[in-house]
Amino acid sequence: IVEIQGLHKRFGDNEVLKGIDLQIAEGEVVCLIGPSGSGKSTLLRCVNLLETPTEGTIVAAGHDLTARDADLDLARRDIGMVFQHFNLFSHMTILDNLVVPQVRVCKIPKAKAVAEARRLLAEVGIEGKEQAKPSQLSGGQQQRVAIARALAVKPRLMLFDEPTSALDPEIVGEVLAVMKGLAAEGMTMLVVTHEMSFAREVADRVLFLDGGVIVESGPPADVLANPKTERARSFLHRVL
Ligand code: ATP
Ligand code: MG
Repeated sequence: IVEIQGLHKRFGDNEVLKGIDLQIAEGEVVCLIGPSGSGKSTLLRCVNLLETPTEGTIVAAGHDLTARDADLDLARRDIGMVFQHFNLFSHMTILDNLVVPQVRVCKIPKAKAVAEARRLLAEVGIEGKEQAKPSQLSGGQQQRVAIARALAVKPRLMLFDEPTSALDPEIVGEVLAVMKGLAAEGMTMLVVTHEMSFAREVADRVLFLDGGVIVESGPPADVLANPKTERARSFLHRVL
């Protein structure tokens, strides 16, 4: 469902991604770890074209994102993204945060969109907050709403960029639980995270990115417990 070949990204003469090759199968959960500045967010942002690759090809969720005539709006509908800072529409109610994208992007009738919004909010454990504004919710609640909003347009692939790192430690678990549920339902997920326990339990594969290249890739038991490279070993020493 994701096929990346020879991906390079430069900002001026700073080459941040130096040749990334990556395939992700349908239903696979891939966790991306690595030091600050290694290019994790840049890689994720290339996968939904928030950044334009300098070189290379990316096919994601059936869309050739690097084709000159790529329909980005159509592609982004199939690729959901959740950020570190929830990015909810702050002037809208919680319910409208989920209804409006369905109506605008997918042309779903209002009544059906409202029903789907309520179902998704219940699924992520948000009830009785439909008419609240995002600022009236806790960080963990806002992030669960952000996940539900991303799901509302029925993406085939979900990208997460450190979804729990802006949260207080005691509410990290509630967001990870929602993500675990999503993984169990078979959603294909690419997750940048510092939550090694999540990576260990949920990931099918862990990638260690350093200096813009994938240095290690494999099942969590290999990459996290038995890293082959000194760079991964010393990184894991610091975060574990
Ligand atoms: P962190 O763990 O801190 O989030 P990261 O692995 O996500 O780090 P990136 O955000 O991908 O790292 O950044 C990698 C490098 O790319 C950094 O050196 C950063 O300064 C640079 N960079 C990222 N975005 C831009 C941009 N829009 N313009 C110029 N440089 C950028
Ligand atoms: Mg980042």
